[in-house]
Order: sequence, then structure tokens, then C-alpha cells
Amino acid sequence: MSDCIFCKIVDGKIPAGKLAESEHALAFADINPAAPVHALVIPKQHIATLNDVKDWAVMGEIFELAARVAREKGLDKSGWRAVINTGRDANQLVLHIHLHVIGGRQLSWPPG
Ligand code: 5GP
Ligand code: ZN
Repeated sequence: MSDCIFCKIVDGKIPAGKLAESEHALAFADINPAAPVHALVIPKQHIATLNDVKDWAVMGEIFELAARVAREKGLDKSGWRAVINTGRDANQLVLHIHLHVIGGRQLSWPPG
């Protein structure tokens, strides 16, 4: 998708702090971190929301990469949160699936 900001990151057209990648997924630092560790893990292919997933294997790959990033940041010891906002009520701002990996501080629950 030519006007999708995360597709542009996949294509290297805009810079991002790349953390890790696998065949179908990419992890990079969130530009506006909500915690000491805040990564985003996305499919390299454009998929707008969880409602649009056809091949669920890619979601497994996204979670696998998220767990690798969390481990590399030491969050497997302290704890971390994986979040996928979907649609308007969840405040999904970027319409390209992204799994937030958040940690490095005590997180509150439930979310607002
Ligand atoms: P959402 O509300 O859609 O779940 O979250 C979108 C996330 O993408 C936000 O945490 C925001 O900071 C992040 N973000 C938006 N634009 C960019 C960008 O250009 N680069 C990076 N690295 N993160 C971005
Ligand atoms: Zn996209």
C-alpha cells in the first residue's frame, strides 16, 4: 500500500529503529514510546486490521518475533504486554496490523 506509513518502513522509504526481523515480520521501535521498551511488530505484507487476516500463520510469526524482542530486552524476566488495537473503539491509528510490545515498567490494568 503506497500511502501506508508502515509499508514505507518495510520498504525502507522512511527510517525506523529496526530491532529484529523474520521472513514475514518486522520489529522496530515505536516513535513515541509509552514505556522504556515499546516495540511494534508488523507483517511485512499490508494487512489493515485483525478483521482482515486470512493467513493466520503470519500472526504466529508476529508473536514469535515479539517474544524474541522481549527476551532480547530482558522483559522475559520482568514481564511485558502484547497489544493489538483493532478499529475505532480501540484507537487503532495506523491501519496496518501492529503488535505493541510494551515493558520495562509496572503497567496498569485494565487499560482505559
Ligand atoms: P495504534 O494506536 O494504531 O495501535 O498505534 C500506532 C503506534 O504507531 C503508536 O504507538 C505510534 O507512536 C506509532 N507510530 C506512528 N507513526 C510511526 C512512525 O512513523 N514510526 C514509528 N516507529 N512508529 C510510529
Ligand atoms: Zn501497510
